[in-house]
Amino acid sequence: MLWLAARGRLNTADRVHGEICTRCVLCNEDEETHGHLFFNCSFTAGIWAVTGRRAQVRWPANDQDIFHWASLNLQGILDAKHIIAKLILSSTVYFVWYERNNRIFKHQFTPREQIQKDIIGLVRDRLSTILTSKIHFSSIIRDDWGLTGEEARVIGPAQA
Ligand SMILES: [Zn+2]
Repeated sequence: MLWLAARGRLNTADRVHGEICTRCVLCNEDEETHGHLFFNCSFTAGIWAVTGRRAQVRWPANDQDIFHWASLNLQGILDAKHIIAKLILSSTVYFVWYERNNRIFKHQFTPREQIQKDIIGLVRDRLSTILTSKIHFSSIIRDDWGLTGEEARVIGPAQA
């Protein structure tokens, strides 16, 4: 899914309707395009701000380039900070897409604060379950993510 999002291939309204755009269900302010939904939308931008702080990553100012930036900056670097950033990135894209579909197809609305919590929770779960002996987690990161003892001492390649 991240791969599709990176190429603008998810079926956002601009792709489904061609010229005819539909209003974004996350902010109700602008037309839904791929770039709007994932980056320029005020709803999504708020999520990026919070998750970026949590990952201690400053996402690129030019939002459309975030996937390109990630491929340059996050790919193949297996330390804790980069793995966290990658997990946050993929989880944020996933949850934004999921929320958008829930609103359109199920008329279920989840507040932004809850989505942020869900993203952090998912990343935390994955951090605590992915294990190898290659990567060291500093005590600062362990404390920050509420990871304890042996389970968090080392972690393996992200699966995202
Ligand atoms: Zn929007």
